[in-house]
Amino acid sequence: MASSPATLLIVDDEPQVRKLLETLLRHEGYQTLSASNGEEALRLVAQQPPDLVLLDIMMPGMDGYEVASQLKGNPATANIPIIMLSALSEPSARVSGLETGAEEFISKPIERVELWLRVRNLLRLKAHGDQLHKHSQMLEQQLQQRSDEHARLDVQDLTRLELEKALRLAVERDEFALHYQPKVELAGGAVCALEALLRWDRPGYGAISPAVFVPVLESLGLIVPVGRWVIDRVCQQIAAWQCSAIGAIEVSVNVSGHQLIEGDLIADIAQSLAHHGVDPHWLEVELTESSLMENTEHTITGLQRLRAMGVKISIDDFGTGYSSLAYLRRFPIDTLKIDIAFIREVTSNPQDAAITRTIIELAHSLDLRVVAEGVETQAQLAFLKTAGCDQIQGYLFSRPLPMAELERLLLEKSGLVGP
Ligand code: C2E
Ligand code: MG
Ligand code: MG
Repeated sequence: MASSPATLLIVDDEPQVRKLLETLLRHEGYQTLSASNGEEALRLVAQQPPDLVLLDIMMPGMDGYEVASQLKGNPATANIPIIMLSALSEPSARVSGLETGAEEFISKPIERVELWLRVRNLLRLKAHGDQLHKHSQMLEQQLQQRSDEHARLDVQDLTRLELEKALRLAVERDEFALHYQPKVELAGGAVCALEALLRWDRPGYGAISPAVFVPVLESLGLIVPVGRWVIDRVCQQIAAWQCSAIGAIEVSVNVSGHQLIEGDLIADIAQSLAHHGVDPHWLEVELTESSLMENTEHTITGLQRLRAMGVKISIDDFGTGYSSLAYLRRFPIDTLKIDIAFIREVTSNPQDAAITRTIIELAHSLDLRVVAEGVETQAQLAFLKTAGCDQIQGYLFSRPLPMAELERLLLEKSGLVGP
């Protein structure tokens, strides 16, 4: 039973019966509420549901049967036990009472011990029922939560599985393309190099960001064949430009750490360069700081071999990873690309400005070229010029472009940024 005393509602039209019941029940430690008719009883129950109702059958107006059937007919009050009080001893009265849902009967005149025992037993039953009810509600809630979680997980899993399936098909069906973004030499204002960026139009969805699909390709082990395709396509393109009015131009490709560790990046690059007749110094690989930090010994050896071939090496997104200065000395690097995160607020955030200046000085003191990516405004450009940055890349000059637009730009637009 609950620790606070149970509250019992006494419903009887006779004041002396109410008085007697109040006295007896309070003596047993219960709290009591009293009503002199059926309407008042229903009002009280609605205000403050009692733990048990002692209900007289014969009352003027609404009788006990009516009150009991209303209480039992309402799901909010159906669990409150009812003891009917009756001077009628005929069995038919008891049957009518039971039909309405009352649990017990006590005959008037009321006998103290019988009253106490019936009340006590019914309250015990109710407490037990309440506990079961609470427990089953809790279980229902937990079940609901679990099935919600499963539904959420299922949706996520399904989306991921569908993306994986679509990417496998994309590899089979050759659905990838390359766009190229120009890099501009700040000293002369001319386009000096390009970055090749992978593009995928997912059928039925449109363009998907490589920041989304490249990690999935990595996890599927598909970045090795796709990366090989990127390198080969870029070498083919450099060779084509070499023989056109555009002339040979340096192109950087983004390379995933997986290509170094799982694939044979060096052999793939050597083969493509040779196959298309491209001099290695036109090709640069961009590796992020974090991919350099995985499996460092193997990575350093691989990069040294690339460097020995004449291919340039750039650290992409520099400043956000965790490469130490000691590592910078050990890696054979040509270029640092300052991460877009510092450039974004370089003119408004003094800390970003200080970091950017420091990276530029650091790069120059190690004899490295430094490129700022994500340059969108003239103010950012002016800051980078003053700080001595070598090259910029960003929407201010051009977005990454498909082949036809890029070739038009390379032929027409140079010297736009000005020295
Ligand atoms: P990333 O190599 O750092 O490439 C620069 C990203 O910045 C590109 O996003 C480019 O479109 C975007 N960007 C350039 N200028 C601006 C600018 O002014 N403002 C802003 N807000 N963004 C600018 P994209 O093409 O979505 O590529 C995202 C990343 O996906 C790349 O970052 C690179 O890590 C990866 N990725 C792209 N292509 C390849 C690839 O062929 N192989 C591998 N392994 N990763 C790739
Ligand atoms: Mg890059
Ligand atoms: Mg970057």
